Amino acid sequence: MVLAEFRFLGCTREGELEGTVATLTGMKAGLDELVGRRLRSRGQRYTPLRKALVRKVRAAAHPLAIHDILASGKRLAQSSVYRNLVVLEQAGVIRRLAATGSGFARYELAEDLTEHHHHLICTSCGSVEDLPAPVGLERTVQKATAALASRRGFRVRAHRVDMLGLCSRCD
Ligand SMILES: [Zn+2]
Ligand SMILES: [Zn+2]
Repeated sequence: MVLAEFRFLGCTREGELEGTVATLTGMKAGLDELVGRRLRSRGQRYTPLRKALVRKVRAAAHPLAIHDILASGKRLAQSSVYRNLVVLEQAGVIRRLAATGSGFARYELAEDLTEHHHHLICTSCGSVEDLPAPVGLERTVQKATAALASRRGFRVRAHRVDMLGLCSRCD
C-alpha cells in the first residue's frame, strides 16, 4: 500500500524507496538511523537536540508550531530551536508548512519518512490537521494535475494540497 503510493508519486529513486518502505514496515524503528544518514550526508551530526526535535515532531498528532515545540519539557532557546529546525529541513528530515493568515509556520516529519497526506488549515485560529489521502482521491488529483502540467512541458512528481477554511471550533 505504502509502496504503491510512493511509486504513484514517483518521487524517489528505487533504492531509496526500498529503504524507506523497509523503515516504514519495520514500525519506523530505523527512523533515527535514516535521519542520522541524511544529516551526515550534509556534513551534519545528529545531536541530542536534533533527536529531541525529531522525536517531538514525530510524536505529535498534527504539525507543530514553534511555540508548541518550545512549550515541551526542557527549556530550549528559541533561536537554537529555529537554527536546528532549518538544518533538519535542509537535510530533508523535517518539512516546514508556511504560515497562513494569522497562523504560524508549522513543522512535521518529511513525507517520505511518514506517509503522503494533505492538510486542513483553519484561517481563523491557525490550527492544522493532517488529512489522509485515499487512493481514489490521489488518482484523481494525479490525473488532473498531470494533464494540466504537461501542456507546459512539466512532469509532476508529487503534489501538496492544503485546504483552507474554518475548523469545527471556529465555524
Ligand atoms: Zn480554528
Ligand atoms: Zn495527495
